[in-house]
Amino acid sequence: MSKNTDELFKNVISHAKEYGFVFQSSEIYDGLSAVYDYGQNGAELKNNIKTYWWKAMVQMHENIVGIDSAIFMHPKIWKASGHVDGFNDPMIDNKDSKKRYRADQLIEEKIAKYDGENKTDLAEKLQHDMDEALKADDLPRLREIIIEHDIKCPISGTMNWTEVRQFNLMFSTQFGAMAEGSEEVYLRPETAQGIFVNFLNVQKSGRMKIPFGIAQIGKAFRNEVIARQFIIRMREFEQMEMQFFIRPGTQQEWYEYWKIARLKWHVALGTDPAKYQYHDHAKLAHYATAAVDIEYEFPFGFKEVEGIHSRGNFDLSQHQEFSGKKMQYFDPEVDPETGKPYGNYIPYVIETSIGLDRMFLLTMMNAYEEEDLSTEERQDSRTVLRLPPVLAPVKAAIFPLTKKDGLPEKAREIMDKLKLEYNVQYEEKDAIGKRYRRQDAIGTPICITVDHQSLEDNTVTIRHRDSMAQERVLADDLSKILGDLVSW
Ligand code: ATP
Repeated sequence: MSKNTDELFKNVISHAKEYGFVFQSSEIYDGLSAVYDYGQNGAELKNNIKTYWWKAMVQMHENIVGIDSAIFMHPKIWKASGHVDGFNDPMIDNKDSKKRYRADQLIEEKIAKYDGENKTDLAEKLQHDMDEALKADDLPRLREIIIEHDIKCPISGTMNWTEVRQFNLMFSTQFGAMAEGSEEVYLRPETAQGIFVNFLNVQKSGRMKIPFGIAQIGKAFRNEVIARQFIIRMREFEQMEMQFFIRPGTQQEWYEYWKIARLKWHVALGTDPAKYQYHDHAKLAHYATAAVDIEYEFPFGFKEVEGIHSRGNFDLSQHQEFSGKKMQYFDPEVDPETGKPYGNYIPYVIETSIGLDRMFLLTMMNAYEEEDLSTEERQDSRTVLRLPPVLAPVKAAIFPLTKKDGLPEKAREIMDKLKLEYNVQYEEKDAIGKRYRRQDAIGTPICITVDHQSLEDNTVTIRHRDSMAQERVLADDLSKILGDLVSW
């Protein structure tokens, strides 16, 4: 990470704290590692991102419905899904520094840090060796690679490494009050399984016909070995997932469809398309037959924001086997080749899975700008969040020019009308310029100023966040102006 991008990232993190977007969890007790709280503006922004996703997925698709399943689930579910046996990260400890690393990330860091000759050759070889070792689950080989390259790309002082061990990422807790009667359950590491186990409930109660999707937004928990980069890798985070159930044989077509549709969703927010890339997975998770990540270019490089996975019928078959309940769908449609109905089958699944917190950070990074407003006469600057208006935490701020002459009353009257429909804020403290800056910093698309003329002709001044241009409009038109600006 170059100095500038490093600084930009640090500035965004402190901006997020200063303006009530993201706080370290339990901060007054020195924090809890990789757990974060969303503040007053963060909660609004997060809710708006959720709504934007929910509307695009559920409201805009007649054949997708949304659910909200519990975080606690029967422990057998995680056995069936493969998480008990396979949801691991390889980790290694440095005996001298007492630091713990994820083996694959440590190798990636070495690749990034190495600055000698033949940099690309070495990076390629390292990457290749690592992929092979990960694919073969060859933990001793991972350790060898780390040691082999310690001299060329040292990471942490003297190199005295432990064995590489697999570390399960699921959190567990005791379910039931009695010590002898309690059972170990897991906090869900993904929301997807809550959808799979409800597949038949939703299909039958909603009379859903294939192809159809089930979406949900909810918390997921992973005991990440090392958690860093702010809200990129958290131990408690939120996912927005959709499982699309399809007829076997149509998976390629639907995989391509969702791959394109999901990238369109991102770009529709006005984010620079050049900042996105697809990354096809070489190494597939135990459930997947094809997988691609949608990655965004953060200051520290491209990072996965969303995954699209072709899961075959792995999950439903596993649940059929472990629960003993049939997970079949009867497809009455006639197969043109045989002239008979497709009949009973276990549907295949295409999954789209996006991390809400990573999407939140992406949105902040993309919107954040330190703008130089200096003129020949004086130096000036502002920090502005150029959020898409539809996502902005506060849609409009209303200012009386002064605190007297009936201006606050007039401003409150306008506010009372607008607040029925929009999240608006009233501010009368400090000079107008300062109030503008505070609203720019949280991304408020317009500020409305009430002055003496407003009392005479019922007009107000609107000041636009991005252009800083001002215009005089009728107070009665504000609701429509806002509606045009921030509607979904
Ligand atoms: P990574 O490789 O970065 O650990 P993953 O491949 O394990 O991610 P998935 O299991 O596909 O991630 O989860 C889907 C989405 O959930 C990811 O694209 C990401 O946006 C989000 N996500 C996963 N783990 C975390 C985490 N620890 N903190 C925040 N978001 C996460």
